[in-house]
Amino acid sequence: MANHSAPTLNSTESAVSLRGILKQFGDFTAVKDLDMEIRNGEFFSMLGPSGSGKTTVLRMIAGFEEPTAGQIVLHGTDVTRSAPFDREVNTVFQDYALFPHLSIAENVGYGLKVRGVAKAERTKLVGEALEQVRLSQVATRKPSQLSGGQRQRIALARALILRPKVLLLDEPLGALDKQLREQMQVELKQIQREVGITFIFVTHDQEEALTLSDRVAVFNNGKIEQVASPREVYEFPETEFVARFLGVTNIISPELSQHYFGSSDLHSLRPERISLVDASAPAATAGTVEIAGAIAETVYAGAHTRYLIDGEDGQRYIAESQNAHLPTTSITIARGDNVRLQFPREFATAIPGTAPAAAAAA
Ligand code: ATP
Repeated sequence: MANHSAPTLNSTESAVSLRGILKQFGDFTAVKDLDMEIRNGEFFSMLGPSGSGKTTVLRMIAGFEEPTAGQIVLHGTDVTRSAPFDREVNTVFQDYALFPHLSIAENVGYGLKVRGVAKAERTKLVGEALEQVRLSQVATRKPSQLSGGQRQRIALARALILRPKVLLLDEPLGALDKQLREQMQVELKQIQREVGITFIFVTHDQEEALTLSDRVAVFNNGKIEQVASPREVYEFPETEFVARFLGVTNIISPELSQHYFGSSDLHSLRPERISLVDASAPAATAGTVEIAGAIAETVYAGAHTRYLIDGEDGQRYIAESQNAHLPTTSITIARGDNVRLQFPREFATAIPGTAPAAAAAA
């Protein structure tokens, strides 16, 4: 007989559906007519600049805010008007919200205690949850005796122990320094894989969203611009906003796009796709675009060097090359040098519907 209490991990099943969601605060519209499907077991990120509406959407899924219009469905149940505690979701906040006077084990077991779970069972589940976040050794300490990264893992254990079907994470790594943050990203992803729960993650850090997610929703101004895998949003942005927000890119003007690619849609060309060659290098082969230019600036950034180039075609380009040469070899390209930019034509991707005629009609 099937065990109906165990979470089913069917990735095609919908965990959360948002349908026609509108959220107004007085006269201000924070979220506009939003539709979004999040699959069961998925690591889903909401990425966007500050004020784009991500947290408001997360808070509506949690039940802390009610939508002005629209419907929220959690695993097939309409929860639009349900209280937060009637939803099988839990939230991890950036500021951990641990109780300072309780031990780590008591913090992790707190939710179970409130629900009346017996002590023996609680001890067992707390032990398992601490093991899950690899912190069994700190059970008797107080939160103030832990590092930021450890506290964040405890906050995660405390949320996971209640076995939510969906875990909501609001910039959970925001308070950590860069190195710890990167380490926690890897751990978070591992833990999510192990527990198999749907994670919905809010961040304004594009690299973090790309690193962690199965799919990313890119927010702008209360709306979703694109929902796709990290690779797709980076390599094939559907709007100019997505192209620019997901890292650095060159947006090639309609006139030059027409000239190089035969279409006057804007094209996005990532800096790492451009090779810089000097005047003595062989001419480009068919299918490769070549643009002459002069180096306006070089920026050394350790792993790579970034170049700003004034193209003879009137456009300024950014190119990036990995510093894969010997550490003792100095970089030979300098400000003022004449160079040629080369890239295969298909390395530039068209942003659909941005040709001036199409954009004017839209
Ligand atoms: P951040 O990354 O800064 O948290 P965000 O993308 O999560 O930004 P939200 O917090 O969802 O953005 O806010 C979206 C917009 O709604 C903002 O302009 C914000 O000022 C506004 N807003 C959010 N909550 C309220 C509220 N309770 N009352 C009025 N306006 C609000």
